[in-house]
Amino acid sequence: MELRGHASKIYVLRIGHRPGRDRRITTHVALVARAFGAHGFVLGDVVDQRVVESLSKVLKTWGGVMHVEQGVDSRKYVIEWRKRGGVVVHLTMYGVHIDEIISELRSLSKDILIIVGAEKVPPFFYTESDYNVAIGNQPHSEVAALAIFLDRYYMGSELYSTFKGAELVIEPSHRGKKVVRVAKENN
Ligand code: SAM
Repeated sequence: MELRGHASKIYVLRIGHRPGRDRRITTHVALVARAFGAHGFVLGDVVDQRVVESLSKVLKTWGGVMHVEQGVDSRKYVIEWRKRGGVVVHLTMYGVHIDEIISELRSLSKDILIIVGAEKVPPFFYTESDYNVAIGNQPHSEVAALAIFLDRYYMGSELYSTFKGAELVIEPSHRGKKVVRVAKENN
């Protein structure tokens, strides 16, 4: 997905995932990443085929091109991302308020790796991230934090995106469900 005026790429790194217990919420992180304009979803340190399958199914039906990876070493991934000139943003309630940082991040025009955690985030990610960003300084959810970060970053424009290769497209309506099947030659 190309968002007008944004050449840089955003990847989301999900750390601390516990297969079974976190499957639903990690799937939601992946779906929010896709729907709100991220270009990549990376599941750190574990493999969970069910999460990747759910994301792939949505990509196939509703479109969009995303880099998807799992089982990577999260620490190495962060180090490599920074070595390649990208910026690392860790979302945490202990961080600096998003309003203090978001325009600076936008103006950097650099690729951004957004880290979202689960129960307990190791100190490494606080110290090695370029920015520790809070979506308000109250505990809530990685899904909400990611959605709000992306929405603030793209200033709402991501909600108007179209997704390449979609088999189905929704026709917005006041009542009911209108879904159109896209002809193969238009994909
Ligand atoms: N004590 C954790 C923390 O450091 O934010 C809360 C754990 S919360 C169950 C799981 C994840 O949600 C966190 O790792 C963080 O990525 C995200 N999160 C929760 N509240 C947040 C907030 N207010 N701002 C930014 N991210 C938040």
